[in-house]
Amino acid sequence: MAVVIRNIRVICTAPEGINLVVVKVETSEPGLYGLGCATFSYRHLTVRHLIETYLAPLLEGQDVRNITELWQLMHQNAYWRCGPIVNNAISGIDMALWDIKGKMAGMPVYDLFGGKVRAGVPIYRHVDGADLDEICEGIERYREAGVRYIRCQRGGYGGTGFGRAPAWTARGAWPGIYLDSGAYMRDTVKLFEGIRQREGFDIDLIHDVHERIHPTQAMGFVKEMEPYKLFFMEDVVPLEHIGWLEKIRERSTVPLSQGELFNNPAEYQKLVEKRTIDYMRVHISQIGGITPARKLQLYCEQYGVRICWHGPGDMSPIAHAANIHIDLAAQNLGIQEWSGIKPPNSILQEIKGPQGALLDVFPGMPEYGNDGYVYASERPGLGVELDEREAAKYPCENSVTLWTQTRNADGSLQAP
Ligand code: MG
Repeated sequence: MAVVIRNIRVICTAPEGINLVVVKVETSEPGLYGLGCATFSYRHLTVRHLIETYLAPLLEGQDVRNITELWQLMHQNAYWRCGPIVNNAISGIDMALWDIKGKMAGMPVYDLFGGKVRAGVPIYRHVDGADLDEICEGIERYREAGVRYIRCQRGGYGGTGFGRAPAWTARGAWPGIYLDSGAYMRDTVKLFEGIRQREGFDIDLIHDVHERIHPTQAMGFVKEMEPYKLFFMEDVVPLEHIGWLEKIRERSTVPLSQGELFNNPAEYQKLVEKRTIDYMRVHISQIGGITPARKLQLYCEQYGVRICWHGPGDMSPIAHAANIHIDLAAQNLGIQEWSGIKPPNSILQEIKGPQGALLDVFPGMPEYGNDGYVYASERPGLGVELDEREAAKYPCENSVTLWTQTRNADGSLQAP
């Protein structure tokens, strides 16, 4: 008899103060369930509502084996499609179905994709600081912990933001995080010059523009960064201006990675086909989960474009595990962003503090080996559990999002 979906539950939790949305798909077989990530931290209640109100009734009673069919059913059910709310909602169920598939097969999810092509997944970590000394100190600590790819930022993304409108802004400018893109670009070029002088070229460096400059500025900035031999530059233009990437590409040899904001295949198909970017960086829940991410990975492989999935703190350990399972089976993996889930007693804990709460809520997540690589759990499915009693200790908060209110000196909003 077919195993069918009996119940779909949404669990919201914030063990690190970041809203996470987890979907639990329960089946007709006692004890068999799957977990998926539907995290859209800044609209978490809307995703929850969509799953509970529209997707759960659509899927209850459906055969859990038919992941591709069920993905398509969810995708086209509301006619309008490919938005971030619906894609994250679909992702929660899609990942849970892959988790179930692995448990039914008695295999880790990477085995369902043809098995491992690598023993561990190379990761990059993030260092920011106020000045060169602080940043080099951070680099040294990571090097001691085996990390060989490091993203470096002076201040936050876009440079040192000013909490409110500083003196040089237009009169009556609104509250926000004020950025000085000229200073940011000058500081960053100087920063990388300093890092290369002190640390040499025997380490791979990354920088994230985070779309916080105008595309016209990006054209010159990428060129100026050429001497520092970056592994890649991230999101040099906003999603709305990916048409500029081809021009930037023509002028510079700096490898480009793009895509943590992508929602829709129409946004990235041409970039892959024309080899305009080197690294595809989607946030896999944002495009609808493992099913579309696996298709995208294979599509990129055909064109020599490598994958580098987004791996920030505002996604759950279940999504980190999904990234790792795809990476392990992907010939065209570039690198994986790893945002700091650390094994106990790791030297990395000293850098940004312990993450005990996250590990208490989500036991069994992939582990950093203190050698530059993350290793997947060998348990069937995605391998990550959810302790619901622990999760309930960390309720989510619903507040106005402030960090995306980035502004230019004249008061106008700048892409965050
Ligand atoms: Mg980024």
